[in-house]
Amino acid sequence: MQVTRRQFFRVCGAGLSGSTIAAMGFSTGEALSQVREFKLARATETRNTCTYCSVSCGLLMYSMGDKAKNAQAKIFHIEGDPDHPVNRGTLCPKGAALLDYVNSPHRLTHPEVREPGAKEWKRISWDQAFDRIAKLVKADRDANFVAKNADGDTVNRWTTTAFLAASASSNETGYITHKVVRTLGIVGFDNQARV
Ligand code: SF4
Repeated sequence: MQVTRRQFFRVCGAGLSGSTIAAMGFSTGEALSQVREFKLARATETRNTCTYCSVSCGLLMYSMGDKAKNAQAKIFHIEGDPDHPVNRGTLCPKGAALLDYVNSPHRLTHPEVREPGAKEWKRISWDQAFDRIAKLVKADRDANFVAKNADGDTVNRWTTTAFLAASASSNETGYITHKVVRTLGIVGFDNQARV
């Protein structure tokens, strides 16, 4: 019989409670039927990837409740994903402390911009951020794209903008990122895995 990790802990928890109470002379029948539910049983489980380093360990993140409108979603437990091929359930100390990072009041959760010459960062919307990135990328590429070199050879290169990709992405995202970057002619292209 295949027993999942969660079932294993439930069975162990129930067995331990039952034998301890029986040793004290109580009937365990009623008590066992009301055994306390595993604390993650009604949480929402979400798979993700640790954001810290290029190892890209897999995570299981547990958040409150069933996403009802009057309930505020909050992640309250994070652990290594035992099914993830990179870390097989383990996390280093940084990854093990991710809960504080996720719930930190200092965490940046929206885009900001600091205009040239300005001292302050200004909050902008995601639409404004994407528009701004697209406009700046196009303007720089229009001004600096080189189709042919001095010898007349086709080079199709754009060297004034660089791109840093995330190593925590999936293979598919990495493939598409590479295609987009090279299609634009970007030469300066690196990955978080080497940082
Ligand atoms: S848990 Fe540690 S080793 Fe794994 S990705 Fe996060 S920081 Fe890197």
